Amino acid sequence: MTDFDALASQALDRLRSEGRYRVFIELERSCGQFPKAQMHRNGLVKPVTVWCSNDYLGMGQHPDVLEAMHKALDHYGAGAGGTRNISGTTHAHVNLENEIADLHDKEAALLFSSGYVSNWTTLSCLGAELENAVILSDAGNHASMIEGIRHARCEKLIWRHNDLDDLRTKLSECGKDQSKIIAFESIYSMDGDIAPISEICDLADKYGAMTYLDEVHAVGMYGPRGGGIAEQEGLMDRITIIEGTLGKAFGAMGGYIAASTAICDFVRSLSSGFIFTTALPPVVVAGAHASIKHLKVSSNERLEHKKRVREVRSKLDLIGIPHLNNPGHIVPVIVKDPVKCKFVSDALLEQYGIYIQPINYPTVPRGTERLRITPSCVHSEADVEYLAQSLNDLWSQCALARVAA
Ligand code: PLP
Repeated sequence: MTDFDALASQALDRLRSEGRYRVFIELERSCGQFPKAQMHRNGLVKPVTVWCSNDYLGMGQHPDVLEAMHKALDHYGAGAGGTRNISGTTHAHVNLENEIADLHDKEAALLFSSGYVSNWTTLSCLGAELENAVILSDAGNHASMIEGIRHARCEKLIWRHNDLDDLRTKLSECGKDQSKIIAFESIYSMDGDIAPISEICDLADKYGAMTYLDEVHAVGMYGPRGGGIAEQEGLMDRITIIEGTLGKAFGAMGGYIAASTAICDFVRSLSSGFIFTTALPPVVVAGAHASIKHLKVSSNERLEHKKRVREVRSKLDLIGIPHLNNPGHIVPVIVKDPVKCKFVSDALLEQYGIYIQPINYPTVPRGTERLRITPSCVHSEADVEYLAQSLNDLWSQCALARVAA
């Protein structure tokens, strides 16, 4: 009889020896207090400040969102009670899909359980069901896109990250009769860099390709109504499918695509990840809807957030802590070593009550291990100051490299 526990333990030992065994921090978020939270560990409770959440705009505790959720809970009860196909399509789901379509100026939208599921499901459906499909995927794409593409079992071509020449070459190598799908992100989640969306659309036009854009880290955050980078750059009409999440800046949970009526109907009808799973609870749908509605008309959160990001960057610059200087809101502090990265993260938590999850391989390439700092508009100036002081101390304690101020 195979000893499966021993096999599992060996695999885990390998992860530990490479310094990439994942330890989850057990948090107790307290509504209204975020980014302050309590950490539970070994029966003890300790206050921490969270610096790695994707609730960038604090919408997870916004009064409009909470009120909508309380109302929906009392009105609808707990769950949707079925798949979208069989009794799970509530009025709340349809209203939210209409709101999302309007946000991205598209004819229609489709909700999924998460952003991960929306990417996986839509890309696998497009690749499998479109005639003679080829998916051209940016090398930096998120795991959910990679898995969806793998599952499509169609031809795939990986183009070098944000490299237009390589994309052009790969497009030119595709057959004229192939259904070409260019899959990419607007803001890349780990480096925080932004794709040349307009130029990619030019290439798509030239070669008759459709564009699939993951705006997961941009929706709610960029554009006058929070429609993402494509909205900010006036490019939404050039993107065939915009994909987003309700779980990051919108502070709730769920994922979606926005596209033409025909494409949404195609994915709705042919994809198993949409059809064969219970619909999102109406209470979550109502919260996400309130969040989108609020951020469509309020830029206060976005402005305050940008200010906080600028403050974090300039404080890190002053003390010479190396970070990637991208045009977005994600501040990756590069440590370049999995063991040191975890050590700094542990020390921040234990000594300073600052929680920043270490990011190691395979989330990022080996040698680029990092602390991914995500400021939010609910961090205070004092929080930023304390973060910078703590990092400054630790950088000295660990003799880590600095850059010229
Ligand atoms: N796409 C990107 C670029 C992401 O970073 C993530 C999540 O981290 C997802 C998709 C998945 O979204 P969700 O968290 O809603 O499943």
